[in-house]
Amino acid sequence: MEKDFILEALKRQIEGADLSVKGEEIGRVVSVVDGIVYIEGLPNVMSSELVLIERSRGDNKKDATPALVLNLEEYAVGAVVLGDDTLIQEGDVVRRTEKVLSVPVGSQLLGRVVNSLGVPLDGKGSIKGENMQLSPIERSAPSVIDREPVSTPLNTGIKVIDATIPIGRGQRELIIGDRQIGKTALVVDIILNQLNEPKESRPICIYVAIGQKYSKVANIVKELEDRGALEHTIVVVAGAADPVPLWYIAPFAGCAMGEYFRDKGKDVVVIYDDLSKHAWAWRQISLLLRRPPGREAYPGDIFYLHSRLLERSAKLSKKMGGGSLTALPIVETQLGDISAYIPTNVISITDGQIYLETDLFFQGQRPAVNIGLSVSRVGSEAQTKAMKKVASRLKLELAQYQELAAFVQFSADLDEATRRKIERGAHLTELLRQDQYMVMPFEEQTCVLFAGISGLFDEIPIEKLRDFEVKFLDNLRDSHANILGEIRKTGDFSDKLQERVKQIVEEMVKSYDLKKAD
Ligand code: ATP
Ligand code: MG
Repeated sequence: MEKDFILEALKRQIEGADLSVKGEEIGRVVSVVDGIVYIEGLPNVMSSELVLIERSRGDNKKDATPALVLNLEEYAVGAVVLGDDTLIQEGDVVRRTEKVLSVPVGSQLLGRVVNSLGVPLDGKGSIKGENMQLSPIERSAPSVIDREPVSTPLNTGIKVIDATIPIGRGQRELIIGDRQIGKTALVVDIILNQLNEPKESRPICIYVAIGQKYSKVANIVKELEDRGALEHTIVVVAGAADPVPLWYIAPFAGCAMGEYFRDKGKDVVVIYDDLSKHAWAWRQISLLLRRPPGREAYPGDIFYLHSRLLERSAKLSKKMGGGSLTALPIVETQLGDISAYIPTNVISITDGQIYLETDLFFQGQRPAVNIGLSVSRVGSEAQTKAMKKVASRLKLELAQYQELAAFVQFSADLDEATRRKIERGAHLTELLRQDQYMVMPFEEQTCVLFAGISGLFDEIPIEKLRDFEVKFLDNLRDSHANILGEIRKTGDFSDKLQERVKQIVEEMVKSYDLKKAD
């Protein structure tokens, strides 16, 4: 009798009550290990959503720690902590933000050094501004209809690249090689060379440093700043000591920052230095999330991850504003093994690769680009006419030289024609050497390489060639600026100009010999 009464009372209380969940969802941390938290009580949370963990430890309890939801499981969700996980403990309250992870984008970021979440690291104050907005780190790539073939060259200022492996704006070109053979030096030079481009069409550069020491990045930033190139550059850093989830986010954040400019019709170059470390980060996160490991213990979606990232680079059609985003991912190989998992993946996603070789580097052939193994599948479409005129002959001469050089190792006496071919090849190889920070605008490269392939330098002894090149360029800049100006303006290298350059070199060679005789 009494029991019925209680039951009736309870029934009356819940009558009319709305039992569907509304308002804020609150979850709780059930475990926290190695930067991975498992959270219960967030049934509607989305993958890639940012959640905030209200920590109960530490001094500043009000500051919630952000975490990124990656695993949606039956009773709990797994998330990576984007910050210090030692302050989080079981039972901490977790709130949804209902937003996917976003980073600030906008022109205020130019000249700044930020972390993967867009927080400034350079001590130059907070980044504010009217047109500052947030952009999700993951966005879908532009569709086929919105794209156009690449048509404008991205001048790198490096002779061997601009001539034999030209890159177009909107292309994806991989830079691959062992450790410490000038991969970073190459991309820093590419950023510096943009100073040779007219201001209105100068590409914006975004350098994403993943897992590198802060001291190394600081040196790069200083170099860029001293040379005036930081103004058109954003540096995104996930340092070696930062939590691995920040390494994972960094390239996506850099890409989102680039997309802002791309969608405004500008040209952007995004450098990912390097994607091997990015793959390690994703492997570590995935293993901690207990996702099944695949080849080399990388998770199965590592290919998808990198293709998703690189597919966002594009040359947009006129209707879409005509902007472009060029991607220059770097991959580190172990002992030149380009058939390892990550190298083959990224090779197959990109439109070509610049292969740096240890042997060349230590022989002093720097930049240590192996021309035979390097390729750019779309860039030659965008190469200027002037460069095309010299490039095809250069490639042929070098290919013949390499073949002959390998062959004549076994024979001492050579006929005159072969000897001359080998001499020419050696001269051209020497011409392709270039010191760090000595970037060269394409009109100057055209003149130098033209003189090289035309045999005008043949009389100069190889050890004097670099000195002669410097004098030749000084002469061109000081007394024949109109020739350089015309090549730059028309993008062509007419027969008339070729004849004039020939005369200039011939005269210089004559007087150079005289000087030597003194
Ligand atoms: P890591 O694997 O550590 O990232 P990396 O491949 O990026 O190395 P860098 O740090 O760019 O290599 O260069 C290694 C060294 O080679 C540096 O000391 C740099 O100054 C030197 N170097 C690179 N390019 C050239 C060059 N063209 N001429 C002379 N020295 C160079
Ligand atoms: Mg490097």
